[in-house]
Amino acid sequence: MRRLPLQAPLERTRESAFSYVCGGCGSCCYNKSVSVSPYELLRLARALGLSTTLVLETYVSPEDMSLRRRDDGSCVFLRGAACGVHAGRPAACRVFPLAEVQAAPGAQALYGELRRSLASPGRVGEEGTVGEFLERQGLAAFDAPFAAYRAVLERLVRLLETDHGLESELGPEMWIDADAALGAGAPEDPEEAWRRHVALIERALAGLEAAPSCDESGGVGGGC
Ligand code: SF4
Repeated sequence: MRRLPLQAPLERTRESAFSYVCGGCGSCCYNKSVSVSPYELLRLARALGLSTTLVLETYVSPEDMSLRRRDDGSCVFLRGAACGVHAGRPAACRVFPLAEVQAAPGAQALYGELRRSLASPGRVGEEGTVGEFLERQGLAAFDAPFAAYRAVLERLVRLLETDHGLESELGPEMWIDADAALGAGAPEDPEEAWRRHVALIERALAGLEAAPSCDESGGVGGGC
């Protein structure tokens, strides 16, 4: 697991005292690896008025699914000292300066404080709680889609463990690129879009789960 550059350990819970006043310097948008999930990609695409396919091609590094950075280390979306895609910014940007770690699904999330630039005018305080801070960042909207995508991913892993052939029906574009998977009828509303995307993946998974594994079929048929 990648080690987080923390200046305060992963000891806070949602109930812990915490507040943060952003100084608007933009330094948090330099030299960060901001990875995007299928839901975050959808939100970015809708905020930019582009398809998820185009956002992937233009703004996301295929090596690690993180937002591209310019030569000076700045995020591709940084405009001056402000985020150019504020409404569609990923969860990691909303959580900053906190980092969230959940040891296992269903386990209580813990929060640490990421290292900030020494020149950052941002101020950490105790006027509120971690939970209140996260709520103000609009993070509640991410809970259901994150859980839904995680659930289908767990089903995929189980299928792989039972040696099902998955071939092209469940290729990467099906998982990551909602507009490519949904085609011309993809909803504009990201909430409706992720639900339809997950439903599509669920239907594909159900078909594979109902089919015999490669072992059971002797390696004949399906994606074996
Ligand atoms: S998406 Fe916006 S907030 Fe996040 S790193 Fe890029 S510029 Fe900064």
